[in-house]
Amino acid sequence: MNRSAQRRENLRRILRRAGVDALLVTSQANVFYLTGFTGDASALLVGENLELVISDGRFTTQLAEECPELQVELRPPGLTIPQLVGGIVGPLGCRAVAVEAEHLSVADFASLQQATTTVSWIPSQGWVEELRAVKDEQELRAIREAVAIAEESFAAVRAELQGSMNEKEVADLLDLHMRRRGATGSSFPTIVAVGARSALPHARPSPRRHLQEAPFLLIDWGADGSPYKSDLTRMIGIGSLTNEFERIYQIVLAAQERAIAAIRPGVAAQDIDAEARKSIEEAGFGDFFGHGLGHGLGIEIHEMPRLRQQSNTLLQPGMVVTVEPGIYLPQWGGIRLEDDVLVTDDGREVLSSIPRGLDSVRLSSV
Ligand code: ZN
Ligand code: ZN
Repeated sequence: MNRSAQRRENLRRILRRAGVDALLVTSQANVFYLTGFTGDASALLVGENLELVISDGRFTTQLAEECPELQVELRPPGLTIPQLVGGIVGPLGCRAVAVEAEHLSVADFASLQQATTTVSWIPSQGWVEELRAVKDEQELRAIREAVAIAEESFAAVRAELQGSMNEKEVADLLDLHMRRRGATGSSFPTIVAVGARSALPHARPSPRRHLQEAPFLLIDWGADGSPYKSDLTRMIGIGSLTNEFERIYQIVLAAQERAIAAIRPGVAAQDIDAEARKSIEEAGFGDFFGHGLGHGLGIEIHEMPRLRQQSNTLLQPGMVVTVEPGIYLPQWGGIRLEDDVLVTDDGREVLSSIPRGLDSVRLSSV
């Protein structure tokens, strides 16, 4: 049995537990995970004796190459996927079919309901995502590769930095280096934020803000290894660092290290978040860490499990999460550190290796 077939088998266990005849998979990331098909605009029906890809004529050749074992239904022009699926599931004997509530529009849901009266459509959430949270060896290799590409590219860009460069130039350069090393691009829009702009956790790189305008910058980037991704954040200091920067940097670093050290199988995701949060609160900056500690990483940049308050998911070996505490002071700037961490059988392995110590932050050559 190939990997995709094994995953569909695992999904069937979830379907049996939920008491439904089939799941209509409409998330393209989930379709890829369950079939190996890398195209888009397609859906997948999985049931007890049912494995059907619903696609269209543009993908015939690609489907034959990527998932030859699967039955394919080609959607004629003029018919939508819900209209077609609605007409298929009834005659197959399905009575209860789950849909992915997070990946189906209200209009498509209505059109499924209109297409057949003999089937009940049951909203579901996170079934395939739950399987995706635990990575196999091949997936881990792909993530390690995406981390390596991101790290090599960062080292190359760091060596080329000039005070006269603007945020956008740095981001573009990083993206170019990642592409040259085999990535299809960046795994999300690269963040390069100079000085006070780093207080915006999702700052968009500006062509008008130059490195020399402030004593530090934040870079948050990752490689898209097509499809597995990486996600890292580092600070770069230009010139001499202020005492305040050093103090806050050490607090963030200590929070990150404390959270990483707590990662092991069986621990709830919210408890890892709490480790970092307590650490930052104890240092007096609790009001300035306004986001969750991290997220799962894989085919998509944000996956299960989420490391945040109220997330009671228990960590399992094979999960890969980011650990990214930050302190953001309006008008002054933000300091965030982010690494990618694998949950192992007896603890954790940090997949990223760019040094994090304060002595590695300062760039002397600019
Ligand atoms: Zn990031
Ligand atoms: Zn992240």
